[in-house]
Amino acid sequence: MFKRILIANRGEIAVRIIRCCMEMDIETVAVYSTEDRNSLAVMAATESVCIGPAKAADSYLKEDVIIEVAKRCGCDAIHPGYGFLSENASFARKCLDNGIAFIGPSAEIISRMGDKQSARELMIRTGVPVVPGSDGLLLTLEDAKTAAARVGYPVLLKASAGGGGKGMRKAFSPEELEQAWSSARAEAKAAFGNDDMYLEKLVQNPHHVEMQILADQHGNTICLGERDCSIQRNNQKLLEEAPSPLLDEKLRRKMAKTAVKAAKAAGYFSAGTVEFVLDDDRNFYFIEMNTRIQVEHPVTEELVGIDLIREQIRIAAGMKLNMTQDEVRQSCHTIECRINAATTGRITFLHMPAGYGVRVESALYTGCEISPYYDSMIAKIIVSGKTRLEAIRRLRRALEELVIEGIETNADFMHLLTFHPDFILGKYNTGFWEKNHWEIEEWLSKGNIAQTESES
Ligand code: ADP
Ligand code: ADP
Ligand code: MG
Repeated sequence: MFKRILIANRGEIAVRIIRCCMEMDIETVAVYSTEDRNSLAVMAATESVCIGPAKAADSYLKEDVIIEVAKRCGCDAIHPGYGFLSENASFARKCLDNGIAFIGPSAEIISRMGDKQSARELMIRTGVPVVPGSDGLLLTLEDAKTAAARVGYPVLLKASAGGGGKGMRKAFSPEELEQAWSSARAEAKAAFGNDDMYLEKLVQNPHHVEMQILADQHGNTICLGERDCSIQRNNQKLLEEAPSPLLDEKLRRKMAKTAVKAAKAAGYFSAGTVEFVLDDDRNFYFIEMNTRIQVEHPVTEELVGIDLIREQIRIAAGMKLNMTQDEVRQSCHTIECRINAATTGRITFLHMPAGYGVRVESALYTGCEISPYYDSMIAKIIVSGKTRLEAIRRLRRALEELVIEGIETNADFMHLLTFHPDFILGKYNTGFWEKNHWEIEEWLSKGNIAQTESES
């Protein structure tokens, strides 16, 4: 087993990984930017090293600097978390070349599946259903128009290196496609340094359901079930739950089998996620595979009672899975709610929810600074219950306990969202936010629902 792991990340995921290492008796090295010098990860790690200024390009994305620090500090492995270098094949290869284990799949697998267009091609060859779309990359706007005319409008133009909902644009006509072409490419170039494009038919307001995969380096691959991530805003997840209100046992089994087939076709090992969209007739289509730990991984951890970070570390160290597919049991209903900062600045007071069935993942503390340089996601509230309704009621109560002062967040919005009839009935798709946010914001402007009820 590894003795010392460098965490090439920040925020809640860095703290999550450090906590896991502590439980496994593994020392940790936190790398940080000047902006993060007072972070919880820096305080919690065995050792910490400043690697540059605030801008990620000058710190958290500095591959060679991070590897140098790992060598100097005697680390035998690097955990990349999510975002940053987590799906960067060249970084994974450099780790290996320097005798450091990369906690994730191999560089070859990352190139194969991390590039969305090449993953799509592999899935077509494997017989996994994909959304109808372009063949190969689109080199010119003319290529895009030809492909769009063939699959039929509306289409979704997507960046092959994309992630976090960036670099994608809808187009309902050739004119819109022309606009989308330049803006999506510019966004992709800025965010990923790569503006390769492909396109897919736009499935109207689909459901997003993804399957969590765990595979070791000995050929064992299992599926730990789904997460429904259809509550999104601008293609970014806001709330994730499992089991999905949309699936029945038969469809669940079929999608899990397909996900395992996809992972095996890629020769996959480590934790990974196969993402699908489903149309109203519950036809499912592969959209991408995330070759890393995901933000919403705690949903599955609570659902099946497994520590996915621990498993990732064990797998990277060459160990076998200690669970078979038959042993996977889903024992509760779990919901994760992402808390995003709407402004930046100092948190002047913080109170986190706790109690039965509540878990919080965050790097916040009273007095910490929320920086404009990084992702706005600052905390995750994860609740579990025997039934979906119990989980919803627990989430409401947890969000009522939560107090964050000094900055604005989406917490009140998310609290009211849990009262929306369509959400309670589980009748939602990725169009939920667009359809309902005005109404929820109106409730917000009128004050807290629970208060109104108790006053009347
Ligand atoms: P998940 O798929 O785990 O739900 P998100 O799509 O919300 O994750 O992305 C998690 C974080 O990783 C966000 O900070 C996002 O901006 C970042 N991210 C995701 N994919 C990429 C990528 N290909 N390149 C850079 N950052 C990425
Ligand atoms: P990212 O790498 O940014 O996570 P994805 O390819 O996973 O990008 O897509 C993000 C979201 O965009 C999906 O969860 C879904 O809501 C929407 N989406 C993706 N592909 C399609 C499609 N073909 N039709 C409709 N919506 C889609
Ligand atoms: Mg995705």
